[in-house]
Amino acid sequence: SRFAKAPKSFYPAITNTNTTIMGEQSPKAPVVAEAHAVDTFHPPQKMLDKHPSKPHLSSLEEYQKLYKESITEPKKFWGRLARELLTWSKDFQTVHSGSLAGGDNAWFLEGELNASYNCVDRHAFKDPNKVAIIYEADEPSDGRNVTYGELLRDVSKLAHVLTQMGVRKGDTVAIYLPMIPEAIVALLACSRIGAVHSVVFAGFSADSLRDRVIDGGSKVVITTDEGKRGGKLIGTKKIVDEALKQCPDVGHVLVYKRTGADIPMTEGRDFWWHEEVEKWPSYYPPVAVNSEDPLFLLYTSGSTGKPKGVMHTTGGYLLGAATTGKYVFDIHDGDRYFCGGDVGWITGHTYVVYAPLLLGVSTVVFEGTPAYPNFSRYWDIIEQHKVTQFYVAPTALRLLKRAGNQHVRNEMKHLRVLGSVGEPIAAEIWKWYFEVVGKEEAHIVDTYWQTETGSNVITPLAGVTPTKPGSASLPFFGIEPAIVDPVSGEEIHGNDVEGVLAFKQPWPSMARTVWGAHKRYMDTYLNVYKGYYFTGDGAGRDHEGFYWIRGRVDDVVNVSGHRLSTAEIEAALIEHASIAEAAVVGVADELTGQAVNAFVSIKNGAEVDDALRKDFILQVRRSIGPFAAPKAVFVVPDLPKTRSGKIMRRILRKILAGEEDQLGDISTLSDPSVVEKIINIVHEGK
Ligand code: ATP
Ligand code: MG
Repeated sequence: SRFAKAPKSFYPAITNTNTTIMGEQSPKAPVVAEAHAVDTFHPPQKMLDKHPSKPHLSSLEEYQKLYKESITEPKKFWGRLARELLTWSKDFQTVHSGSLAGGDNAWFLEGELNASYNCVDRHAFKDPNKVAIIYEADEPSDGRNVTYGELLRDVSKLAHVLTQMGVRKGDTVAIYLPMIPEAIVALLACSRIGAVHSVVFAGFSADSLRDRVIDGGSKVVITTDEGKRGGKLIGTKKIVDEALKQCPDVGHVLVYKRTGADIPMTEGRDFWWHEEVEKWPSYYPPVAVNSEDPLFLLYTSGSTGKPKGVMHTTGGYLLGAATTGKYVFDIHDGDRYFCGGDVGWITGHTYVVYAPLLLGVSTVVFEGTPAYPNFSRYWDIIEQHKVTQFYVAPTALRLLKRAGNQHVRNEMKHLRVLGSVGEPIAAEIWKWYFEVVGKEEAHIVDTYWQTETGSNVITPLAGVTPTKPGSASLPFFGIEPAIVDPVSGEEIHGNDVEGVLAFKQPWPSMARTVWGAHKRYMDTYLNVYKGYYFTGDGAGRDHEGFYWIRGRVDDVVNVSGHRLSTAEIEAALIEHASIAEAAVVGVADELTGQAVNAFVSIKNGAEVDDALRKDFILQVRRSIGPFAAPKAVFVVPDLPKTRSGKIMRRILRKILAGEEDQLGDISTLSDPSVVEKIINIVHEGK
């Protein structure tokens, strides 16, 4: 047949048949988003009115001017910001060396600094009573504040303890802690002595923890007796004990008493945090490290396969965190910043810990879930602490929108910025965030970035950049995006184009390697299109130069030569009143190369009959076009999601292809039992 079977993924090479079933040429770049009229939202006047002073940049023109400088004179631009936003114990001479093709990028080469000094000491010296951490415990009544002065003391004491345990500069420490202030203390204590932190999300199984401890070469593990989340207890120490049965290189475990549970302690290996810190004085001098010394390892979410141990270095990473904190979130002195991400993910690293603390403001550390004790929890926290910036993933917003507007509080008057991260945000959810949560008084920033990029790379700047729901808008300073044709590997110039997203220049906070697997780093990011950093995501650039992230290149469906983004079709589906969440994948199809199949979960578990199912399909036909209509719709109780809340479409693809025995690594799924349920539903439907 002339309709060759389209490969399951169009990366690294696709056969774009350029033919439709009708035999007409498919449009070169179906920019589906342009099919609907797209509204542009300017920074709300009410946001500017309630601003404590004014945004750091006065206009879009000022952004454009600085952006131009960051691309044409990156050394001048980043050299200036590095000296302005960070404190160096030894100044650097060379702003940057290396190249994307060589995979040897290094920033601020001769410079020396200490991350914890930059996050704590310099603010504590100025005002020790300023609140650094607003701790919101799982139970709303159990929280407390930690000042910068107290943080300096806590970090110093723990630095002593780690040193006593034999941890030295360059050693790796695994952190398996829930979202409590001690998690931040642990990260900063590692960095104070030049050790490398490797945080493992405290919801992972013993096997996942074991793999990450071994891969990172951790010598010490820091944990709690138990964790507490959404009213449920998690046996963190028990999981650590299980994992360490197969980690002979771990000499010590430090246990913070969170619940007081009765847990076994292994003589000579396990120590109580509260007993150890008491032994040491309140100041430990920060150890200066080279700008390029590693700050941390962090494993990616594993949405696309085996997690990668991404390595970030000190100077460049900190600069990315500070710069984006300042310009993307428009952080000002006195702000109270609340990022709902867990410290087990990159969002928690950069935007719960490093960005707000580098800028010396208060950061909310939230231990619980948005649904406990009820669906108002986030809004209560925002109101109680007069939060100014709030940052969360679309998955949480979908949950809260589904729960109903009655839970959203009417006040929250201090909110200026509402951020979204982790997945494309559907226009429907974006508008709800803007109108219902923000009362049209806060600027929405849809921030696109990755574990590997270290900090936001395509994003609006709060108070400055006009936004369009569903678009991450414009590149951040130093980021030079390219839309690349996945078939030829050529850059596609101009506007109104679609392809895969790559970056043409190195930037300070880019990952330097995958731990112990530099070849994997090169092959995944830098050898795909020589001279570019390859993101793995598809994207479009519209007529105004705004970027639309389409999702992973694997998540693009190729129907009769039309490259459709799964995100786009999903966004159309959740516009339907009955649909809570949707995931779309492509399956091989005789006639069209690939066909669209959709998985949906239903609001309030309503019954779905044939008429409603047809209505779902109609929704997509109306909103995007007949060619995008799903060929099958499966109604499922829940979608397979990573523990960071992202939909794992590769599992759905495998199930549809009848390859259930090849699901790959599913250890990062939040609820592995949904897989079995989905398999049954697909089999019944066939
Ligand atoms: P793995 O690399 O192991 O498959 P992952 O890519 O899910 O896991 P992260 O680094 O946490 O791990 O996520 C980065 C990815 O999240 C991006 O490549 C992109 O696909 C998606 N993403 C992040 N922010 C946005 C956004 N604002 N809009 C659209 N997609 C986003
Ligand atoms: Mg990734």
